[in-house]
Order: sequence, then C-alpha cells, then structure tokens
Amino acid sequence: MKLSIIGTGYVGLVTGACFAEVGHQVICVDNDAAKVKLLQAGGIPIYEPGLEAMVKKNVASGHLKFTASTAEGVQNSEVIFIAVPTPPQPDGSVDLSYIERVARDIAAAMTSYKIVVDKSTVPVKTGEKVAETIKRYCAAKVEFDVVSNPEFLREGFAVGDLMNPDRVVIGVASPRPAAAMREIYTPFKAPIIVTDINSAELIKHAANSFLALKISYINAIANVCEAAGANVQEVAQGIGLDERIGRRFLNAGIGFGGSCFPKDLSAFIKISEQVGYEFKLLKEVQRINADQMERFVNKITDTLWVLKDKKIGVLGLAFKQNTDDVRSSPAIDLCQRLLQDGATLRVHDPKAMAKARALLPTVTYVEDMNAVAEGCDALVVATEWEEFKQLDLARARKGMTAPIFFDGRNLFDPAEMEKLGWIYKSIGR
Ligand code: NAD
Repeated sequence: MKLSIIGTGYVGLVTGACFAEVGHQVICVDNDAAKVKLLQAGGIPIYEPGLEAMVKKNVASGHLKFTASTAEGVQNSEVIFIAVPTPPQPDGSVDLSYIERVARDIAAAMTSYKIVVDKSTVPVKTGEKVAETIKRYCAAKVEFDVVSNPEFLREGFAVGDLMNPDRVVIGVASPRPAAAMREIYTPFKAPIIVTDINSAELIKHAANSFLALKISYINAIANVCEAAGANVQEVAQGIGLDERIGRRFLNAGIGFGGSCFPKDLSAFIKISEQVGYEFKLLKEVQRINADQMERFVNKITDTLWVLKDKKIGVLGLAFKQNTDDVRSSPAIDLCQRLLQDGATLRVHDPKAMAKARALLPTVTYVEDMNAVAEGCDALVVATEWEEFKQLDLARARKGMTAPIFFDGRNLFDPAEMEKLGWIYKSIGR
C-alpha cells in the first residue's frame, strides 16, 4: 500500500522502514530539513539495532523515500500515519500542538479520500479532535477517516518489536478504514485488536502506566529487601516465574526514565483527573520512582561523605541499554546531581555520548569503558548495558584511589565483588 509517515523520529523512522521492508511504498516526512537531508544522503539520525541496514536496503529498492513536504507525503499515499512528539507540559498534561499542526497540514493537502492514523501517544478523545480539525481545515472537503493505532515499540529493540509485535491495536469509528489497516498489518502476523478510537487511545496509556507500576513495585520490594536482609533478585525470580506475574520489568534499579514512561504516567494521571477519577495508585508509582533516585544518591553521599573534589566514574548515560536516547535519562539526572554536589565526573556510554554532550558539557568523556575508573574515588553503573558486565575489574580497581562501586542496575554479584575487595553497594541486595 502507499503510506506516508509524518514525523521521522524513533517511531516514524522505524515504522517507515519496517512497512517498507514488508513491501509497502513509504514516504517518511519530517519538518526538520537537516534530518531529511541526512536521511536522503544515506545517514541515520538515531541508533537503533538493525535499523541502518533496513533503511539502506529499502531506500535502494525504492520502497522508502524521505521528504520535508507534508503535502508530497499526503498526495502520494492512501494512508497517513502521524508520529510526531506529544511532550509533557509543566502541569503533566500533553502538549498536543504538534498533532494539531500536522492535522491542519494534512487537511490542507488532501484532495481525495485518506485514512489518517494517529501513532503518537495521545490522550483519550484526541481522535475526535483530529477529525474535527481536518474537517475544518480541509478546503477540498473530501472524505476521510481517522484511526488510532498506538505504537508499543521499545527503543533499543524497535525493529524487532515492529516486525514481531505482541499485538496491533486499531481504533476505528467505522468499518471502512479497518480493512485497509488490516491489510497494512497482515504481513506482520500479529494478533490484531480492532476497537473504538477512545479505547485504542486509552490502551496505550494504560499499558505504559502498568509497566511503570511494575518497575516501581519491584523497587519498593528492593527497599524492603534492603531493610530485611533479603535479595531482590531472588524475590523477583521467585515471583516472576508465576505466569500471572511474569519476570519482565521486575528489575530493581535507580528508577525508570526516557521519553515515554514519565510523560505517559503524568498524562494518564491528568487524563483520569479530567474525567473525574483521582488515580492515586499512579501518583504513588511516580513518588516511588523519584524516591529511588534519592535513595541511590544518598547511598553515594553516605559512603563518600563529601562529594566536593571527588572524582567519580559513571558507566552509562542512555536512559536504558541499546539506545543512544538520553531524554529524561535517570543516568543524566544522577550525573547532574553529583556535579551539583561538587564531584567531577569521567563518563562512558557505548552509544549515547554524542547526545549527552549538550546536557553534560563539563564532564570528561572516555571512549574506553575500562579507562573510566582511572583516578576515581568511586565507580557508578547507571545504565544496564550488557557489555558493562565485561568490565576489567582488576584494571579499574588498580587505577582508583579507593575500590568503591555503586551498582545502580545490579549488574554484578555482591559476594564476588566483595571477594575481589570492592566496597560494593547495589539495589535491594
Ligand atoms: P521523536 O522526537 O524521536 O520524533 C518526532 C519527529 O517528528 C521529529 O523528527 C520531529 O522533527 C518531527 N516533527 C515534529 N513536528 C513535525 C511536523 N509538524 N511535521 C513533520 N515532522 C514533525 O519522537 P518519538 O520518540 O518518535 O515519539 C513520537 C510519538 O510516539 C510520541 O507521541 C511518543 O510518545 C510516541 N511513542 C514513542 C516511543 C519511543 O520509544 N520513542 C514508543 C511508542 C510511542
């Protein structure tokens, strides 16, 4: 099918590449002219495993194109996906100005029937507003349908998640667009849930809030474990093997971050409030998450006492492993707090150092993870990159003024670390 995607970021670019991969004709649109130029020249603006090869292959076969013109995308496609940002406002509600802008741009360019699909994460009832807006601004007065098709991909695993989704959710107001949507997703062989638009929109916020809740739950358990002398990883294993609970998202740490969970959680609390329900459970999820960072910082200051003039090595800057995304990263937050208290930092991340530079201009970036600890008073793990498990611990220890290790992601074994002579502090163990 002929598809266009407005917004070529983490969601739009990966979606466009995967749609092209299964044989659709895709035009990715972005109003960032520099980004479009880079993509047209064969560059990839984000790191996502497997993405570069897929983009290159589909550009070469002519299935994937890039443009800065929304009109070009709209006029050359039957179905238009919206994948622009929906950032939070200071009060936690969603800034829908990007969605509204795109709805007007699509309306202005439409000269025949189109299906307009919202893939961005939006509050319930946004579909109704998008439909009203398109109707108002469509000079050609052509027919159209609005669909909600929330995206569930995880950064770092986005290509795999798009190609093999757990489910595809399609919210429609009439049967007409449902057939086209099914056709688009048939090659992906995933269960397709066709529902009404409001339910589809709500599924996304309900899903992300539940995942955030699961993380805060295990972090709360970690705090009880610490106080009671138990091991949170053993507890997570013990409860996670129960199929009704599941082991995933039960990793204690310094809390969740990124561009989705914190904002979607705030948005869902706000949305619930607007429809008359105070979602106290989710407010507690937020509180536990903020507290988790506080507890970790306290662990560092309790041990190092004064941070002023202390040199600390930090492993990890991305908000989680396998991505270069540092938006609302707990690791960045941690670094900023340590800097504020007067520490100097040597940092390393396998993929996120370039994007971190704007947020952390005063730290020393170290290309080799094994050299980060040199001259440091303590070493901190802030992101759960698998490769950090291969750290040369003997070399790290030799170069440090004291063998102090704060593991914010429980990557190492406490007993082994102590045997190796480290003063080792982790989460809930
Ligand atoms: P992003 O910032 O990476 O990409 C958005 C892109 O849209 C940018 O390239 C921007 O230049 C472009 N854009 C903005 N306004 C535009 C306009 N008027 N016309 C054309 N392009 C425009 O954002 P993202 O992470 O891809 O997120 C997009 C949406 O998907 C958000 O609602 C987000 O909550 C949701 N989502 C994100 C993820 C994720 O893991 N990143 C997962 C699921 C859902």
